[in-house]
Amino acid sequence: MTHEIDRRHFLKMSSTVLAAAPAVLATGPAALAAGAAQPASDKQGAPFVSTHRMLDLPKARGPRLVIIGGGTSGLTIAKYAKKAYPKFDVVLVEKRCMYSSCFASNLWYPGIIDLEFLADHSFLDAAHNSDYIYVNATCIGLDRASRTVATNEGDIKYDFLVIAPGISYDYDKIGVHDIDTKVALRQTYPGGFICPTEHVTIHRKVRQFEGGVFIQTVPSGNYRCLPAPYERACLIASVIKHNKLKGKVVVLDANPEITIKAPGFHAAFDELYKGIIEWHPTSAVTGVDVAQRTVHTEFDSYKFDDAAIYPNIRAATLIEELGLMAPPTKSNQKEANIDIRFYNLIGDEHVYVTGDSRPMPYSKSGNTSNSEGHYVAKVLAARAQGKDITWTSPQTLCYSMVDAFPKQAIWVDTYYGYDATKDAITGFKDTKVDNTRSEANGATYLEWAHGLYRDMFKA
Ligand SMILES: Cc1cc2nc3c(=O)[nH]c(=O)nc-3n(C[C@H](O)[C@H](O)[C@H](O)COP(=O)(O)OP(=O)(O)OC[C@H]3O[C@@H](n4cnc5c(N)ncnc54)[C@H](O)[C@@H]3O)c2cc1C
Repeated sequence: MTHEIDRRHFLKMSSTVLAAAPAVLATGPAALAAGAAQPASDKQGAPFVSTHRMLDLPKARGPRLVIIGGGTSGLTIAKYAKKAYPKFDVVLVEKRCMYSSCFASNLWYPGIIDLEFLADHSFLDAAHNSDYIYVNATCIGLDRASRTVATNEGDIKYDFLVIAPGISYDYDKIGVHDIDTKVALRQTYPGGFICPTEHVTIHRKVRQFEGGVFIQTVPSGNYRCLPAPYERACLIASVIKHNKLKGKVVVLDANPEITIKAPGFHAAFDELYKGIIEWHPTSAVTGVDVAQRTVHTEFDSYKFDDAAIYPNIRAATLIEELGLMAPPTKSNQKEANIDIRFYNLIGDEHVYVTGDSRPMPYSKSGNTSNSEGHYVAKVLAARAQGKDITWTSPQTLCYSMVDAFPKQAIWVDTYYGYDATKDAITGFKDTKVDNTRSEANGATYLEWAHGLYRDMFKA
């Protein structure tokens, strides 16, 4: 026991240097990305998975740009590539038939927004408004030699291919290896960071919570939306406080310090939710007993009444299935093997991977994917015309609502640097932050989300 306490103390002490968010990012995939360019880890000998028929599409009227994934990244690129180079014949392939955004979904739980806010956006309208084709299908294979991408509805020939499938969960990294527990966790205590049906389940949990312990975990690594688990903890706590429930939110954080906007979240925890939020740093999950409703960390075990278990993340498994994964020396999160400035697969200027499957140490956020999408659209337009383009950094502008009654938010706005000598992204640059919660920030948060929807779905 003494040994355990000492070790925990040591971990906390030794990690204070890592506490600042830029440092967290700079020590993640950034450092790994500094390694020399290596060829994509193609699944040697893996057969090309295909339906062996072509998808019914009008004849291409220009270079065909196929985009896999209609999330923040894919939707932005589809619209802006067409704007940047109208000759592109753009086809967006998305496996969902209905859109609902991940970003801003935490706001639904305490009733700040309704479901329509997240979901009243149509893939069909987006395609119509920006003159591209939307196909409701799932990408299942890729043959780079013949420039053919396969979907469950048929194959498509491409001149340029963008793959933007987002993320998958990695339960093994939180010590959950057996498939029964993985499935039970995914279905009963979902992380709420990928799929809209997870949001519906968490919404139901929050609305039905009658008291007791609600556990929210925060994984290590460059997980999707750094502030979102802390934001969610605040918003669930605000419901507990508002409804005068005898309950608390226990935040089990794998990190030694809150990974972003730490002063703003600490202030909310201490000033708004004393006795309601319990934050445990350096508490990485090492296993979960679903039947006993118990989360194990290296040092302690925690019983819960309800929970949202956010495991580690990795690039969507599609990236691995297509053989596009970076070697472990470049990404320890199974992300894509791309040029960190121009997004093309190493050794193939016809295939690009964007959004949260990228290996760069950018905050995996909607604003990052959207601003990056504007830039990638220009890269594609330039490459289609045989031109060069200068790298520009994405922008991470990220709001977090820390109170629902009234709606008060904090925010950070940052760019990133590039070190040509190391060919590496160097972390936060030109950062502005407002850790003082306010209703004005809360109102701007909602406007920001509307702006993002407009940018992806309107003409
Ligand atoms: C709870 C939560 C809160 C968040 N809060 C914020 C916030 O406040 N601010 C912010 O900026 N960001 C926030 N984010 C993060 C933001 O939503 C993501 O970082 C961003 O959407 C990533 O964009 P993407 O296009 O890479 O991935 P996604 O938006 O996940 O899109 C990937 C798309 O690819 C599709 N797809 C996957 N595989 C296939 C396949 N084989 N074939 C066809 N289609 C496929 C998926 O269906 C999906 O539509 C939040 C996320 C969550 C979950």
